[in-house]
Amino acid sequence: MAFRVVVRGVVQGVGFRPFIYRIAKGKNLRGYVRNAGNSVELLLQGEREEVNEFVETVKRDHPPLSEIFSIDVKSVADNEVYEDFLILKSEAKGETGSAIPPDVALCDKCIQEIFDPGDKRYHYPFTVCTDCGPRFTIIEDLPYDREKTTMRVFPMCRDCSREYEDPLDRRFHAEPTCCPVCGPEYILYKGRDRVNTSDPVRDAAKALDRGRIVAIKGVGGTHLATKTTMDEPILRIREMLGRPQKPFAVMARDIGSVEDIAFLGAEERNLIESFRRPIVLLKKRDGALSEYISPGLHNIGVMLPYAGVHHLLFHHSREPAFVMTSANIPGEPMAIEDKDIFSLGAEYSLIHNRRIANRCDDSVVKIVAGEKTLLRRSRGYVPQLIDLNIEDRANVLALGPELDVTACLLKGNKALVSQYIGNTTKIKTLEYLGRAVENLMSLSRVEEIDAVAVDLHPGFSTARLGEELGERYGAKVVRVQHHHAHIASLMMEHSVKECVGIAVDGVGYGIDGKPWGGEIMVATLKGFERVGSLMPQPMPGGDLATRFPARMVAGILSSKYPLKELGSILKDIKGFRNSREVELILRQLDRGFNTPETTSAGRVLDAISALLGVCYERTYEGEPAVKLESFAKGGKALVDIPVAISENKRRMVLDTASILEAALFAIGRYKKRDIAASAQKALATGLARMALMAAEKNGIRVVGISGGVAYNDAIVTTVKTVVEAEGLRFISHRRVPCGDGGVSLGQAAVAAM
Ligand code: ZN
Ligand code: FE
Repeated sequence: MAFRVVVRGVVQGVGFRPFIYRIAKGKNLRGYVRNAGNSVELLLQGEREEVNEFVETVKRDHPPLSEIFSIDVKSVADNEVYEDFLILKSEAKGETGSAIPPDVALCDKCIQEIFDPGDKRYHYPFTVCTDCGPRFTIIEDLPYDREKTTMRVFPMCRDCSREYEDPLDRRFHAEPTCCPVCGPEYILYKGRDRVNTSDPVRDAAKALDRGRIVAIKGVGGTHLATKTTMDEPILRIREMLGRPQKPFAVMARDIGSVEDIAFLGAEERNLIESFRRPIVLLKKRDGALSEYISPGLHNIGVMLPYAGVHHLLFHHSREPAFVMTSANIPGEPMAIEDKDIFSLGAEYSLIHNRRIANRCDDSVVKIVAGEKTLLRRSRGYVPQLIDLNIEDRANVLALGPELDVTACLLKGNKALVSQYIGNTTKIKTLEYLGRAVENLMSLSRVEEIDAVAVDLHPGFSTARLGEELGERYGAKVVRVQHHHAHIASLMMEHSVKECVGIAVDGVGYGIDGKPWGGEIMVATLKGFERVGSLMPQPMPGGDLATRFPARMVAGILSSKYPLKELGSILKDIKGFRNSREVELILRQLDRGFNTPETTSAGRVLDAISALLGVCYERTYEGEPAVKLESFAKGGKALVDIPVAISENKRRMVLDTASILEAALFAIGRYKKRDIAASAQKALATGLARMALMAAEKNGIRVVGISGGVAYNDAIVTTVKTVVEAEGLRFISHRRVPCGDGGVSLGQAAVAAM
């Protein structure tokens, strides 16, 4: 009898066909296996019993990187008689749904080969096999075959071909496989001049040891690297990139070095060692590395080597860790072309000649309230599909908000969320978004779009791009409110149809045209009701109040004191450039000139941060608030701070002015760290109580939190504790970021409805 078997899932580029081959041969089945679109297709000749057994074995023992969505078996009439079991060439027919695995860290077997002087791949940085190496970052089209990757310009040598053709070899159909004879190579440049050396990677490592700055082109992008034990080169990178304070990630030599740098819990250890190799935010050990790596923060982002070049750099170096920060001009995408890498101005550049098809930044993970939370979902995760529990058949494309953007393609019950794109106010980043969208579509074989989802904000360039794409595909453009999108993405992740959402972040455009950011909403995917919020607070100077948070102190306290008295209070607060600035702010508050009102939770945290002298200027997204979180880590919530919720007929309002005023009173009587911890706790408690009231009134049993403030461990822990104490279910993000990187999924979900 003959059977046609179709296996759908992540089954290409993960050693699936040799695995099938070995089982089929073992069970004496005849026929063939081949890649088809995004599935693997088999013809099996044998008894029904044997085929059933075969399917059970596949389900049970499939390769670790593969993921099976479904296996269909149909008996077919097939007169051809197969003498053996064969692996056939790919069938390039179209099917939808991406099934490409993400990039995978170099496996142990390959690492062994790199350091085996007898091996032909000794010290070869591009060594990979079927179990490891780049995937997404080199793929240009499906099916995943070498000709469809950026490896096609490196024809395999005879040795590599033999391994590639041998079903019993570890490199059977390992598309990126190569060796020093046939594969890509590194060249080291000093400035723009090629360094004449037999070992460019070793020389780059020596330059790093001397405290030089080296741009290193890697798998999905480029890092700027330098030593972690010396201040001077780190300060120089800060100068080069115009990033005075933003934390840099480091790559540690091995797990022992990680523990020398930071405290490592069991869950964090699993994350940092996983094949995805994300950057994990860990509590740092004071004094282990230069203080300029993550100034003013209690934690540090650490990752382990994931490509051959990283292992080799450490092999040739004495350092415990290197700074490894994305090489990009702020706001622009990471440099991947030689000319862009040179223009960064690093002293040395270590560049290879394999093109990067899809740029992919390092992913970032943090444990928040005991759970893994993604700050950035990129390398190692993308383009893994997110399974959703919805029945919709439409193809929906969503483009995210403005900063920290990702795109999302929703197709049936699967979502494909793009890699981290970034700040779309920059034209290069917006272009990058456009290319990433094309890529999502081609990798999922989607040619028609039914709807394009964008933010409600009329000025976002993503919204303009959405209009363009809507026109091109004849698709409806749907505008989704920012915080509704945050909560909708959370609901999608947890298959929840209705919940009370706490959406807390810096800013998002509200349906009344005002900047929102501390909202309680009763939400479904179809719509929401804003049942509560933080107290609207004036932002004297508009955007200036975001950059200089002392202005928010003035704004928030202005409802508590007559302006004259406020003026004398503000005299004691640093963070104003001079007394003229204070005068100007008071006048702005008096006349309501250039003083929009916001309900943003981020702005309240910023104000607390400035009031306590933690941070006076925001030089990167969220800086005053994340520094406040770090500052409060050492404190206890000992200060009695009022949690006052008023209710008018429109909505509940948490009085944030009273929180800030109580913090002001406490200065001098309590330790500042205790005040910080207490103020965060009061804010979180107020948000949780409003959510509980809304849940009770509407008979809802689920409360969730989303938005950038949901990275604050203390705040989320408090909210979770208060909610669960009432016996309700608490949900937070697991699969997409809480911040704006998760918004595209929510936008798509709302538009699909
Ligand atoms: Zn390998
Ligand atoms: Fe947001």
